[in-house]
Amino acid sequence: MQKLDKTQKIFVNRSLNMGSVTSIGFDMDHTLARYHRENFENLAFHKTLEKFIEAGYPEELKDLKFNPKFVIRGLLVDRSKGNLLKVDSHKYVKIAYHGHTKLEKSERHQLYNAQGYKADSFLSVDTFFALSEVQLFTEIVDYMRRHPGLIKKSFREVYADLREFIDLSHRDGSIKEEVLQNLDRYIVKDPDLPGTLIKLIEGGKKLFLLTNSDWTYTHAVMSYLLDGASEDYPKWQDYFDYSIVSGGKPNFFTGSNPFFEVVDQNGLLKQHNGPLTRGGLYHGGNAKLFEKLTDQKGDQILYIGDHIYGDIMRSKELFNWRTLLVVEELEEEFHALDQTQNSMDQIFSEITLEDQLVSEVQNLRGQIYTWQRRMSFCDNKKQAKYQRRIEENQKMIQEKEQQIEEQHLKIRSLVAAREDAFHPIWGELMHTGLEMSRFAQQVESFACLYCTKITNLSFYSPNQKFRSLRDQLPHEL
Ligand SMILES: [Mg+2]
Repeated sequence: MQKLDKTQKIFVNRSLNMGSVTSIGFDMDHTLARYHRENFENLAFHKTLEKFIEAGYPEELKDLKFNPKFVIRGLLVDRSKGNLLKVDSHKYVKIAYHGHTKLEKSERHQLYNAQGYKADSFLSVDTFFALSEVQLFTEIVDYMRRHPGLIKKSFREVYADLREFIDLSHRDGSIKEEVLQNLDRYIVKDPDLPGTLIKLIEGGKKLFLLTNSDWTYTHAVMSYLLDGASEDYPKWQDYFDYSIVSGGKPNFFTGSNPFFEVVDQNGLLKQHNGPLTRGGLYHGGNAKLFEKLTDQKGDQILYIGDHIYGDIMRSKELFNWRTLLVVEELEEEFHALDQTQNSMDQIFSEITLEDQLVSEVQNLRGQIYTWQRRMSFCDNKKQAKYQRRIEENQKMIQEKEQQIEEQHLKIRSLVAAREDAFHPIWGELMHTGLEMSRFAQQVESFACLYCTKITNLSFYSPNQKFRSLRDQLPHEL
C-alpha cells in the first residue's frame, strides 16, 4: 500500500474488519457533502442577524462581523452567563470567554472549577451548523457588555431568540434557497467522491444514505455531487441501495417513526409497507425497522457522519453499528502538530526533570521525618548530629523547590508557546494544554474510526482490517 500522509489516513480507535461489514451508511451534510464553510457560515450568521433586527433588537447589530475562526467544535456554551468554555476530559474549564473578553483564571475558577458543574446543563458545540450560531451569540453578548442596558434581556433569553430565528431562517427557506441557487459557492464538489463510492460498491458493499435534510435539499445537493460523474451510475440514486431523507437523527435511533416512500420529484410521500427496495427513496423511519426491513444487523453496518451525538453515539450505543467520524478540522491541525513535534519532546523531557526533582524533595523530607523520630529517643550527641543533617536537608529542599518552581514556569511557557501554533484563542482541538479535550474524549469513546474526509476510504481496500494499536492498557505498554 502506498505511504499515506495524515490527511489521507483513517485513524483507528477500535479495530474494525471491513470484511464483515456488509452495508455502509452515509450522512450527507459535512460528510458526503463538504461545505465551503466560511461562505455558508457567513450566510447563516447574517440571515439570522436580520431576524434579530426585524424582531426589534437594536439596528446597530447589523454591524456585527462574522469571524470564521472564532468558534471551534467541542466548546461548551454557558447560556446563563453568556460564556464560551473549553473543557478538558475531566470537565475542568481551561479557557473561558465572555464575548471577546477572556476570563481571568481566578474568575474562571470561581465560576466553574471551584464547585464543579454539570456539563450537560451547557450547550455543546457539536455540529458545523452550530459554529455560526454560537459565534453570533458571542457577538451579541459582547455587544451587551459594551452597551449595558440596550438589550433588556438575559443571555439565556437572547439564546432562546437565536434558536427561534435560526429555525425561522430554515423554515422560511432564506438559507437553503440561497445555497440551492449557488451550490458551487457553498458545496465542495470533490472529484474523488464518485470513485470512492464505486470502489466500495465494487468491493461488495451496499451503500445507503441517511440524512436529516429534506427531499428537495438532498436531491439538489446529491445531484450536484454525483449526477453524470460516471457512465455506470448516471444518477446519484444509482450509488445507494436505499436513500433516507428527513431521517430525524438522533431520534432515528431511539424513535419508532414509520418509513414513507418518496414517490415523485416534488417529494410526494406515500406510507411504505414491506421491505425497503433497492434504489428506493424513503422519508423518516427508524433504525430498528431499518434493520428489519433490510435484513441486516448491528456490526454489519458501518455508519459515517460528522456529528458525535446525531450520527455516532446513539447508533453505536443502541444498535452496535460500527462508526466512522469525519473530523474535517483536524486537517488544519496536522501542520501545527508536525511543527510542534520537537517542542512536545522537549516538554516531556522537562516534565521528567520536574518529576525527578519532586521525588528528590520527597526523599529528603522522608529522611527528615526519620531523623526527627530518632531524635526523640537518642542521646544529646546524636541529637545534635541529626539536627545538623536535618538543617542540611532543609537547605537542599529549599534549593530544589526553587528549581521546581523555575521548571514549572518553563514547562508552562513551553506549553503556551506550543499552543500558539494552533488556534489563536482555543489552542489545539484535541487537547487543552497537555490534557485531552472533552471533544477528543468523545471522539475516542464513540468513533471506531475517524478521518478528515470520506474520500480517504479510497486509499484502503473495501475489506481492510483496520487495527487499533491502542488495544493495550497502560501496564502493558
Ligand atoms: Mg452532517
